[in-house]
Amino acid sequence: MSENNISEIDKELLDILACPVCKTEVKLTEDKKGLRCVNCGRIYPIRDGIPVMLVDEATFTDNQNKG
Ligand SMILES: [Zn+2]
Repeated sequence: MSENNISEIDKELLDILACPVCKTEVKLTEDKKGLRCVNCGRIYPIRDGIPVMLVDEATFTDNQNKG
């Protein structure tokens, strides 16, 4: 019960989630710590197993650092 590992996001939940910017589907990142928009590449963090689908919280991949 005290384990702190991140539980995987339900696939059903993934189906209804979408990037708030371009309304495109998002996919779980390889490290399962975020959800990446397949269109714009924004990565939305997952906190305590809950996806934070906020533009202000989104980050870009390393190579895309411009605003
Ligand atoms: Zn997007």
